[in-house]
Amino acid sequence: MKLLENKVAIITGASRGIGRGIALKFAQEGANIAFTYLSSVEKGLALEKELETYGIKAKGYQSDAADFKAADDLVTAVVAEFGTVDILVNNAGITRDTLLMRMSEQQWDEVMNANLKSVFNLTKAVQKPMLKQRKGSIINMSSVVGVKGNPGQSNYAASKAGIIGFTKSVALELGSRNIRSNAIAPGFIETEMTGALDEKTVQGWRDAIPLKRVGTAEDVANVTAFLASDNSAYVTGQVINVCGGMLT
Ligand code: NAP
Repeated sequence: MKLLENKVAIITGASRGIGRGIALKFAQEGANIAFTYLSSVEKGLALEKELETYGIKAKGYQSDAADFKAADDLVTAVVAEFGTVDILVNNAGITRDTLLMRMSEQQWDEVMNANLKSVFNLTKAVQKPMLKQRKGSIINMSSVVGVKGNPGQSNYAASKAGIIGFTKSVALELGSRNIRSNAIAPGFIETEMTGALDEKTVQGWRDAIPLKRVGTAEDVANVTAFLASDNSAYVTGQVINVCGGMLT
């Protein structure tokens, strides 16, 4: 039997990068997948077709995770289409990097809404079906930057640190109902998001990684699949760093 056979997963922000890697891994492991994106309609349609080649049910939804009502409507639609939700991966996220001195209120708000409010929105919405079946695994994509801080990313670091506090609180609130809540803190993972960084910053990160390579979406997807699966049935309230030892 595959690791996630017949489980229903919602993955936010799966049109590209880490989210896409997670969707592919979950499909290989037999999960049925509802995934979202914000504006990449064509990439979403292509991913839906690619996931279906694994013999699972897959559907992409254009849905803004930062929008409270849209998140609730999404979960209602997924439950109607798939029957329930077993796994939620809050992966959608953005950066609006700049020094605090130059940071606008808009840059702060956009990051907090897309990265942190989105996690509240989706988690609140999946609570109902998960409580009903007395089972669920919620996985939130934080970042090593949320653990350590990073100059030029005070908005992003605050949103990712906020995710950790939220993840632990939900684990404490919902543990008695067999709903688990964990966070992953990826280090430097090669995606379009990190493609926007300048080479000097990238080299600095690379030099500081004990495993001497940047991470891949697959590296993060493998740990996400573990946390989504029953193999991690006794793991909740944890933050797992997937960073090549960067924070060690
Ligand atoms: P990415 O390549 O920029 O992809 C971001 C994904 O999120 C896209 O699918 C995007 O959809 C979607 N998205 C953005 N805002 C959204 C919203 N409001 N509603 C729904 N979907 C939204 O990013 P990534 O590098 O894969 O990062 C994925 C997650 O890992 C993020 O939370 C990020 O903070 C975290 N992370 C990344 C790294 C890294 O090194 N890459 C390190 C630590 C943590 P569209 O294509 O439609 O825009």
